Amino acid sequence: MTLAIGAGTRLFAVLGDPVAHSLSPRIQNAAIRALHLDAVYLALRADSDTFPGLMRGLAHAGGGGNVTLPHKQLAATLIDHPTAALQATGACNTFWLEDGKIRGDNTDVEGFAVAARMLLNGSLEGTRVLLLGAGGAARAVLYALAREGVDQVVILNRTAERAAALISGSQTAGIQVHPVQRVEELRGQHFDLVANATSLGLRDDDPLPLDPAAGATFTAALDLVYALNGTRWIRELRELGIHAADGKEMLVQQGAASFERWWAREAPVEQMRSALS
Ligand code: NAP
Repeated sequence: MTLAIGAGTRLFAVLGDPVAHSLSPRIQNAAIRALHLDAVYLALRADSDTFPGLMRGLAHAGGGGNVTLPHKQLAATLIDHPTAALQATGACNTFWLEDGKIRGDNTDVEGFAVAARMLLNGSLEGTRVLLLGAGGAARAVLYALAREGVDQVVILNRTAERAAALISGSQTAGIQVHPVQRVEELRGQHFDLVANATSLGLRDDDPLPLDPAAGATFTAALDLVYALNGTRWIRELRELGIHAADGKEMLVQQGAASFERWWAREAPVEQMRSALS
């Protein structure tokens, strides 16, 4: 069924730069169609000068949206009512209006947690996790891991200062967190889960985020990077019999959590997932 766009249509958008590659419009418009909502979701390129006005304008016009690179930190500073996840990560990927104030959340946290639980077929509690990367996405992952009650996290990042800043700026009470700078330091260690939060894998000729021959063993791997036919890392790990998934499920789950903030109703996750196949 085609929905007519009219004067009452709510406008949502993902704001970023670049943003033309974003899969969020596919996912969110699939949800809008599935529930016959009067709304449309676009991808709008915004530089740091136009971003604040666009974000505030969309929210005050009765819509909302998502935020992607490079504006997640800037967005966090423009929110009137942040959620705990936004405050803990200093990054906003979802905004909307509530009682005349702009609310913001970081649904990457929930998206990662749900996708990781699905991959492990259960809880993350008590597990040992290797986190690759120490940028913005790693901050959301580390907060999610702490909330999920993992036992230990080892962070591998090529820039030691960035890993140290991630650890000192994160709420990790109750879990052990160790930084390492070189993959050789992981030889002989076993992890229940490896999460790739580096940007390696965006291009098929990138080096693998973690070479399976490097000496660490792991039961499952979740790549935050995604590609419609899966990333090379995930394809190679699956050939070795490792339970592995790319970032599409996390993308769907963070989108579903955003949808629920905007519409206060359950997201049609199945239709959102189908929009990526
Ligand atoms: P970011 O802040 O720029 O961080 C990038 C990370 O990658 C840093 O830790 C950086 O290490 C590392 N890195 C980059 N090039 C490297 C190389 N050649 N060798 C080793 N490490 C390298 O980016 P981000 O916002 O965290 O995003 C990371 C990825 O997560 C992106 O691909 C993004 O698309 C993905 N993501 C996916 C979802 C989803 O829903 N699936 C959600 C959020 C993000 P240094 O600190 O040493 O520079």
